[in-house]
Formats: sequence, C-alpha cells, structure tokens
Amino acid sequence: MAEGGRGGNKLSRLDGKAPEGSDFANYFCTYAYLYHQKDMLEDHKRTGAYYNAVMQNRRQFKDKVVLDVGTGSGILAIFSAMAGAKKVYAVEATDMAKHARTLVAHNKFEGVIEVVQGTIETIELPEKVDIIISEWMGYFLLRESMLDSVLLARDKFLKPGGALYPSHARMFMAPMRTNASAGRINDFQNAMYGWSEFLKEMKGFYQVDLDCLSESYRKEQKDYYMSTSAWGNVHPSQLMGPGTCFKKYDLHTITIEELKAELDADISMPIVDACGPVDAFCGWFDVEFKGSEENPADDPVKLPTAPDATGPTHWGQQVFMLHPSIDVAAGDSLATKVKVARQKVNHRLLELDLEVKVTGNSIHATSEPRQFNWHID
Ligand code: SAH
Repeated sequence: MAEGGRGGNKLSRLDGKAPEGSDFANYFCTYAYLYHQKDMLEDHKRTGAYYNAVMQNRRQFKDKVVLDVGTGSGILAIFSAMAGAKKVYAVEATDMAKHARTLVAHNKFEGVIEVVQGTIETIELPEKVDIIISEWMGYFLLRESMLDSVLLARDKFLKPGGALYPSHARMFMAPMRTNASAGRINDFQNAMYGWSEFLKEMKGFYQVDLDCLSESYRKEQKDYYMSTSAWGNVHPSQLMGPGTCFKKYDLHTITIEELKAELDADISMPIVDACGPVDAFCGWFDVEFKGSEENPADDPVKLPTAPDATGPTHWGQQVFMLHPSIDVAAGDSLATKVKVARQKVNHRLLELDLEVKVTGNSIHATSEPRQFNWHID
C-alpha cells in the first residue's frame, strides 16, 4: 500500500495520487482517522457555521456544481447536496475518502456526490465548478498551508465569477495576561533540574560524564519551553486590549505567490486594561462566507475563533508567551512589527517574529524595541 494508504484499485474514474511520503507522515496521516474527523465535526461552532453558510444560501447552491477540497468525512459535500447542488466533487487525499463514500451512499447522495480519492494537485475534473467549499484553516489560520491547495483548485477548476466558501479571512493579535507564562519558566527549570539528576545517575551507573552536552540540552529545552506557541482557551477577560487585525485575505484575489511570501505587518495594539504586565500575545482568526462579487451570498455568515466566554472552537487561540513580561499602563500602545513565515524544514509549520516597543506617556514607554521569536509547531 502506498504512503497515502490507497488500496490498488481506483474506485472513481477521477481518482488521483496519494500524498508524497514525507508530507503524508508530517501532515496527512492523522486525517485518515475517524477520531480526528470527529474532533472537527463535533466542534459545532465550526460545523454549524459551515451548515449555516450553505443552508442560509441555498439559492446559491441550488443546481450548481460544487467542489469540496479536502472532504474528510464528506460532511461539507453532504451539506451542499442537501442545499440542492446538482453535482458535488468531494476530493480527499487520504483513505478517509472510503468512509466518505460510505456516508454519502448511506445518505442516498451517490447520485449527486462523487467522492474522488487523491490530492487536489493530482486529480482532474471533467468540468469547471460554480462553488468551491473547503475547511482548510489551521492553527493561527495559516498552519498546515492547506490554503495553497484551495487556491490551486480555484485557479484550475473555478468558473469565472464562481464563489469560494469561505471567501475572506482575517488574522488578529491582542496583548493578554496569563499565569501560564510563569509556568513555562518553572517547567524549563524543572527540566534542567531533571538533567542534573540524570548526569549524576549516568556517572554513578556507567562512569560516563555527559556534562559536555548540558549546554545543548539547555538550548533545546529553552527553545521548547520559551519559544514555542501554545494552544489556549483564552477567556476574554484575559485580554488587555481589543484584537487588532494585522492581515486580511480576499480568497478570490490573493495569488499563491502572495500567500507563500513572508507576511509583514506594522500594528499598534492599544492597552485598555492594565492590571499587571503583558505576559503574552494572543493570536486568532476569523473567516467569512460572503460569496463572490458576481455571486454574493444572500446571507453572509462569519466563523470567529476569538476568545469567547462560551468556549473555544477546536482551533482555540495561539498564545505567544513573553519572557520576561512587558510592563505597561492603560493608555500605552504596543507598536509592533509582525512577521509570519513558513518554517524552512516543514512548510506546513510557521514561525512568528515580533518586534515590540511600548509607546505612550507612561513610565513604561521604551525607546528600544524588544525582539521575540516563536515557532508554531
Ligand atoms: N471537510 C471536512 C474535513 C476538513 S479537514 C470537514 O469540514 O469536516 C481537511 C481535510 O482535507 C483532511 O481530511 C485532509 O486529508 C484533506 N486535504 C488536505 N489537503 C488536501 C489536498 N491537497 N488534496 C486533497 N485533500 C486534502
């Protein structure tokens, strides 16, 4: 069996190729498990937003040809068929395509939905489509880089004037307080304490001194505990100012080259509520289903992932902890240069660089910016 887990025979005349080996191991493999599809399906803020985006815009889907990029369990293809689509191509790279076929048949949509197994990059469709629907968003919006595949599908298969669901995306950042930041320092110190105990054991048991590796271990652990972002379920009361939008994407017009290039933005984040220092930055995104200019949605729908007292989506928020924290007063602002890039070793993972200066009239205003760097793994 190939890395993509495909059995020998083609089930659809349109089937394409399985993902390439390392990309399958790094990225696709988890999507072949029902438990992972279930995690996404039962995120009802997510699945409900897609359901509403389709059902509240039935008029747009009625008698249309739809492409679902990365159909997974087949859910968005089924919504599209329920809304009256004439034909739905449901493309899935992994063996989850087989479960999607079962679900489609059980729901009596085989006449409308054609499940195609293979990467969107390798399949061919017999016709162009009116609508592309896809749930491609990763942590901090861009992790997973699956939007590349949706844009490729757009350029190859979408009719002029056709609509993308979702059609727009935005990225946000806000200063926040959190004890987790101090917790990370403790975890790092505990890891180093554990290392010194380990050195003693190694010497005692085997007469080998590993101390020459201590500095490398320290670097490795510091990087892990202090420079890796964390999934967070942030409560709105932890935010010290409103979310500032630092990037907007119109999915109908952005090019793959623009998407792949480093993202640079200059933003000013106001501090509204300052009891205590800024311990971290909180990052999140939203997407909107507005249709295209030529075929606008009748009832646009938004899927936000901002801190929410009623609970998070499965994306939560990304928390970028600061060591040390930044002292601020209400009325100050954080003049911030944001840089988001893909990691060199794995293009589906991200790096975030921030340069931060406190501006305002308080004692905390700084003349020199401070630099931070995190990976989003
Ligand atoms: N549409 C489903 C699943 C979303 S998860 C839902 O909303 O619940 C994204 C899915 O896209 C995964 O199953 C993944 O395997 C698939 N996928 C990602 N990139 C792909 C590509 N280039 N070609 C085909 N499928 C892809």
